[in-house]
Amino acid sequence: MTLKLTLDLTSCTGCACCMMECPDLFDIDDESGLAVLLEAHPSDDRLDEAERAVRSCPEGAIVLEQA
Ligand code: SF4
Repeated sequence: MTLKLTLDLTSCTGCACCMMECPDLFDIDDESGLAVLLEAHPSDDRLDEAERAVRSCPEGAIVLEQA
């Protein structure tokens, strides 16, 4: 299984929920104030963490694909 996270910056409001929930996967850019995806392909054993990140976003800007 391969995990792939994507971040839609056009939906991101910079609320920082993703960073607070999953600081190893998301950060907030100091200049733009929007989210930064730190790891687009987390290892399989981080599925729970990736799913938490998806759930943390009130805008639906984070999408997880599993292949
Ligand atoms: S939780 Fe969603 S809206 Fe908030 S900063 Fe992260 S990606 Fe952006």
